[in-house]
Amino acid sequence: MNEGNPRRAGRRHRFRNWSGHVHAHPHTMATPASAQELADLIRAANDSGDRVRVLGAGHSFTPVAAGENVMVSLDRLNGIIAVDETNRRVRFHAGTRLRDIPRLLAPYGLALANQGDVNPQALAGAISTSTHGTGLDFTGFAGTVTGLSLMGPDGSVRELSATREPEVFDLTRVSLGVLGVITEIELQCVPAFDLIAEERVWGFDELLASLEKRMRGADHFEFYWFPHTDTVLTKTNTRVGPGEIGPGHLAEAGVRSPVLNFVDKEIVENGALRLAVELGSALPRLVPHINRIAQSAVSDRTYRAPGHDVFVTPRRVRFNEMEYALPFASGAEVIRAIREIIEEKGWTISFPIEVRAAAADDVPLSTASGRDTMYIAVHRFVKDDFAEYFRVIEDIFRAHGGRPHWGKIHTLGAAELRGLYPRFDDFCALRAEADPTAMFGNRFTDSLFDVR
Ligand SMILES: Cc1cc2nc3c(=O)[nH]c(=O)nc-3n(C[C@H](O)[C@H](O)[C@H](O)COP(=O)(O)OP(=O)(O)OC[C@H]3O[C@@H](n4cnc5c(N)ncnc54)[C@H](O)[C@@H]3O)c2cc1C
Repeated sequence: MNEGNPRRAGRRHRFRNWSGHVHAHPHTMATPASAQELADLIRAANDSGDRVRVLGAGHSFTPVAAGENVMVSLDRLNGIIAVDETNRRVRFHAGTRLRDIPRLLAPYGLALANQGDVNPQALAGAISTSTHGTGLDFTGFAGTVTGLSLMGPDGSVRELSATREPEVFDLTRVSLGVLGVITEIELQCVPAFDLIAEERVWGFDELLASLEKRMRGADHFEFYWFPHTDTVLTKTNTRVGPGEIGPGHLAEAGVRSPVLNFVDKEIVENGALRLAVELGSALPRLVPHINRIAQSAVSDRTYRAPGHDVFVTPRRVRFNEMEYALPFASGAEVIRAIREIIEEKGWTISFPIEVRAAAADDVPLSTASGRDTMYIAVHRFVKDDFAEYFRVIEDIFRAHGGRPHWGKIHTLGAAELRGLYPRFDDFCALRAEADPTAMFGNRFTDSLFDVR
């Protein structure tokens, strides 16, 4: 296994992830402008025994993208390569940011099938950790990938799809950058759509009693529970074609103006949240009161906007996060168990717990591989220590067969992960074959995939 090049002890670059929790100091931070430049860089690193991590947007909460020797950003390799309008398949350079995709797809009347709640991520970064949104008729990003180009340690590129090396294709769709550098990604897109968003406040017990039905009955359903309160904020999004009238009571939903959108997302959601978590961090005993005030200030509303505008909210308040993928049917029980332990421990938790769902897919290392999934996420403000809270909640997640999000905080290693993924050993075998010296990795990924 490569341990890096000891001759490069000079000036170091500085990498910090989005939450500021992860730091790295590689000797090289490169942004190649072409596939040829990237291949030269990879070959040079291989020759000199350097380890390489490809960086997306640094939005993972773990050291998964942190490079010990060489870090490579594909920010300059972005945009659309080809569009198959008949089959609605679009091939992108892997460094394309999610935030740019709606603009790039607009001329073709296409959209991403589903999205998570933010969009700064690189497309390759999002698929590599099994990033997902919510909606039981939709998979995460990796489930919509129909083709990939993968650059190996010698700079050569393998073209992968359901018909070209299908076994390698499947295993590469979620691969955390340890099989090589993904340079191109083909995605199954869908016709552009609007969402009619309904935000409602519900009682905690009332919602949990009908959670499965609510999630199965909506295109996209998620909810937030503020600890120390008895209510939840639900978000139900219904898909409609642009210009199409919404069904039933949604027919009158008005298009939200950009100004109101800004006020809601920047001032109400981010400004008020910042105030609440800063105050809660300085005076933890006030947190239950602050959460109750925050929850009571939320009111029901319905509005309509292009899908990507509804899915995404800027996150200006920094936090650390743990999220597990649970078998769908166990979700409500896990949420109740989290509530009980928070009350029993007497913790004061200012950030809401976020609950979403996704369809089963056939991607071996997808967190929703082979099963409909409920995602439950816990967060802590960056100024608050997350260690004990996450450790205890992780025990609950694990007791219910949860799989950790590959980009969010967890404590599992290969021994535990093997039991969660039937194809785990196939993945480790492919990794060893594709990259025998483990140049595409770091200590953190070594612990995930048994690299010694
Ligand atoms: C505020 C916030 C909100 C979030 N919301 C969601 C959400 O709604 N749903 C969800 O599922 N997750 C969410 N996440 C997690 C996030 O989507 C993932 O961690 C994602 O991987 C980050 O993408 P990135 O581009 O920043 O990748 P990075 O964190 O930079 O890298 C992630 C992994 O991808 C690899 N990688 C990147 N590019 C390549 C490439 N070209 N070839 C091979 N490997 C590559 C890296 O080496 C690393 O292993 C959120 C994170 C934050 C900070």
